[in-house]
Amino acid sequence: MKTRSFYLETHGCQMNEHDSERMAGLMEVAGYVRVDSAEDAEVAILNTCAIRENADNKLYGHLGRLKPIKQRTGLKIAVGGCQAEKDRDGVVERAPWVDVVFGTRNIDALPRLIGLVEQAGVPIVEFAEQFEVYPSSLPARRESPFHAWVAIQYGCNNACTFCIVPSVRGREVSRPTGEILGEVRRLVDDGITEVSLLGQNVNSYGRDLTGRPIFSELLRAVNDVPGVRRIRYTSPHPKDFKEDTALAMAECDAVCEHLHFPMQSGSDSVLRRMKRAYSRTSYLEKVAMAREIVPGLALTTDIIVGFPGEMEDEFADTLSLVEEVRFDSAYMFQYSKRPGTDAATMEDQVAKPVVQERFDRLLATQTQISLERNAELVGAEVEITIERTSSKNDAERSTGRTRTNKLVHVPANGWSPGDSASVRVSAASAHHLSGQPT
Ligand code: SAM
Ligand code: SF4
Repeated sequence: MKTRSFYLETHGCQMNEHDSERMAGLMEVAGYVRVDSAEDAEVAILNTCAIRENADNKLYGHLGRLKPIKQRTGLKIAVGGCQAEKDRDGVVERAPWVDVVFGTRNIDALPRLIGLVEQAGVPIVEFAEQFEVYPSSLPARRESPFHAWVAIQYGCNNACTFCIVPSVRGREVSRPTGEILGEVRRLVDDGITEVSLLGQNVNSYGRDLTGRPIFSELLRAVNDVPGVRRIRYTSPHPKDFKEDTALAMAECDAVCEHLHFPMQSGSDSVLRRMKRAYSRTSYLEKVAMAREIVPGLALTTDIIVGFPGEMEDEFADTLSLVEEVRFDSAYMFQYSKRPGTDAATMEDQVAKPVVQERFDRLLATQTQISLERNAELVGAEVEITIERTSSKNDAERSTGRTRTNKLVHVPANGWSPGDSASVRVSAASAHHLSGQPT
């Protein structure tokens, strides 16, 4: 007989990872033990992503693979997250062997819904249009002993024409500052030294609470919590990023010198069609302002290639902006048509081979720049937080992260995750640095 056990798989962004920590916490409080495979579990929970199209096919393929396990073992299957929000009843229409479908705003209901299914014996589909309980106030099973995601805001009020997030995560809701600070203090009491503040548009944090954005004040307040050694945040929106945030970054010791600044495109006409509400020039001005105010700032970005109607000269503007800014690294995506978004019905969707060819050029350009940026650090002494130690070619190797969010491999030196170490950078690739303890 199986003990009460659950298997949990997470797809997508940090917000989903954060939500999954709550799902795991809730299931543990309800008496379930986490296991590593669906074969060994009583309940399989899939926390899904809908940001790009291949996520759709992956989910239904995955559910197809769980079906024979269910037939053999009686496995219960629960589907949550953004794709569950997007497809709702469609999940059980396409995969009638799924037992529970739940949304991004009723994570707290998960154990109850699983219990209901046991009694009812029919699939249960339940969504909430508003939060009754913020996921952040639910019990959590943290993935890391020293780092924690802290949600400061849910949903998004922007209307970027490519993006499905507003329709699956709802309107922007800021968490009260006192609640966030309370969570950070409790985390520090539990041994956490690094926090990453999460939201879709962090620079508008607080607008719904106070009538004005107060993100920079929040950064300063979190910085004042004793015991917090590093603070990161993601994502700011370039249209709302202002000097007050850069100043808080520069003046708060714990706030890391890293800005993830999603540009999406370097072309004014594409940015207009995306409804991003900034221009190439204003983006560049903000980059210059942030670099001037925050010494040693690392910059990363998100870029979409092949947005509907993208012409070669518009793509060339993206390439030239990448060359001008010289990002430390970038997440690069091929545009993916999302049902219900404005861009999905735009004319002139760009042909896949054209998108691929542009993507390859962008990737090559950015990879070379990342390599050059990292090579500039060879010989420098950097402070890293150790994340893990593993064996490679019979040697023990530790991997840590700099304040600027770069990974550094070093020969293991008896460190534990969360330890701070000083290392001298000895070599660089486009994706990581190598170093020696100083
Ligand atoms: N809120 C963040 C912002 O405004 O920058 C972005 C959040 S989204 C989860 C992360 C990234 O996914 C976006 O910055 C964008 O580059 C990419 N993305 C979103 N929708 C996409 C789509 N339809 N096709 C390709 N990439 C997409
Ligand atoms: Fe999507 Fe734009 Fe909101 Fe980011 S700001 S989540 S890209 S709509």
